[in-house]
Amino acid sequence: MSFDLAARLAARRAENLYRQRPLLESPQGPEVVVDGQPLLAFCNNDYLGLANHPQVIEAWRAGALKWGVGGGASHLVIGHSGPHHALEEALADLTGRPRALLFTTGYMANLGAVTALVGQGDTVLEDRLNHASLLDAGLLSGARFNRYLHNDATSLAKRLEKATGNTLVVTDGVFSMDGDIADLPALAREAKAKGAWLMVDDAHGFGPLGAHGGGIVEHFGLSQADVPVLVGTLGKAFGTAGAFVAGSEELIESLIQFARPYIYTTSQPPALACATLKSLELLRSEHWRREHLKTLIRQFRQGAEQIGLELMDSFTPIQPIMIGDAGRAVRLSQMLRERGLMVTAIRPPTVPAGSARLRVTLTAAHSEAQVQLLLEGLADCFQQLGAEPSHA
Ligand SMILES: *Cc1c(COP(=O)(O)O)cnc(C)c1O
Repeated sequence: MSFDLAARLAARRAENLYRQRPLLESPQGPEVVVDGQPLLAFCNNDYLGLANHPQVIEAWRAGALKWGVGGGASHLVIGHSGPHHALEEALADLTGRPRALLFTTGYMANLGAVTALVGQGDTVLEDRLNHASLLDAGLLSGARFNRYLHNDATSLAKRLEKATGNTLVVTDGVFSMDGDIADLPALAREAKAKGAWLMVDDAHGFGPLGAHGGGIVEHFGLSQADVPVLVGTLGKAFGTAGAFVAGSEELIESLIQFARPYIYTTSQPPALACATLKSLELLRSEHWRREHLKTLIRQFRQGAEQIGLELMDSFTPIQPIMIGDAGRAVRLSQMLRERGLMVTAIRPPTVPAGSARLRVTLTAAHSEAQVQLLLEGLADCFQQLGAEPSHA
């Protein structure tokens, strides 16, 4: 009797797929200390630079003094407190939907929404590059589960032809590892034509996208009829933690009744909701953060193209550099780190085989000078790697 974990771990190492956790010894920001080394980092999802904002920290502190630090119980027992409720109302206002429901994490929001809406006899159709939590949710639901080609409304339409029962079409808004955005108008048209519901997880769109940070739905000007189920997470551009589902009165009441990852878990600390209320206010009102980010994205793309790097079709803060081979991606990430730059290598199974990449993320907290340092480091490393024997 043996699980033979040692062999599994050794195999993973041999494939260059072994994962290690860098130890962060400072708050999030462009300048961090990792494993004792000061680094200029381009890998967090704190797109608007709010995770270490003094006003957000102050809101957290004031919230803890007033409400304590623990949620204490699930929302349905006695864990639903004033700040949670106020945050739900503010998120409904941000999204232009009648209601929003707060979850503890994005992973749980996705599991909760999908499993509450579809089950045996139903159908769930997902983009093949969707976030792992959406794919897991589809499998867990027990509905017939199918993936359509990436961002391809024609491929979706074909699968919709064969769908039975209640049908949920599920997509990332901004694709987390590629940075491109879903063609929501086309996907919504196909879904509506077949009476299916479209669910969008816009974890990376809220904040950077839309005139007021309302994400991909604001970017395209789509209504609740187009996107009946809208998910956002609070650990990215909001800079805090948690997630929400926004939609109709009936949708939210149904989730409260039937979404097990909502019902059977302790509410997030109320002080955290206080902090998020403040970051939401900054996210909506401080347009300069979005503008500055756009400037940096333009600067990075122009510079990277001059170096001859293979970028992806993205105008969002997620700017991956396609490498292909996992070993080469890891080697480049190490070389950058030796130069004081931190950029994560993303490998299978997070991305499809043969598409390992360096996932560069830009934030409003970066400066143009810092982006310039990144570009110079990339130019050096690619030149040096080109001169080395192949790692394939
Ligand atoms: C990060 C992410 C999640 C998970 O959200 P957490 O709050 O971190 O659990 C879900 N969906 C997408 C697209 C994400 O990028």
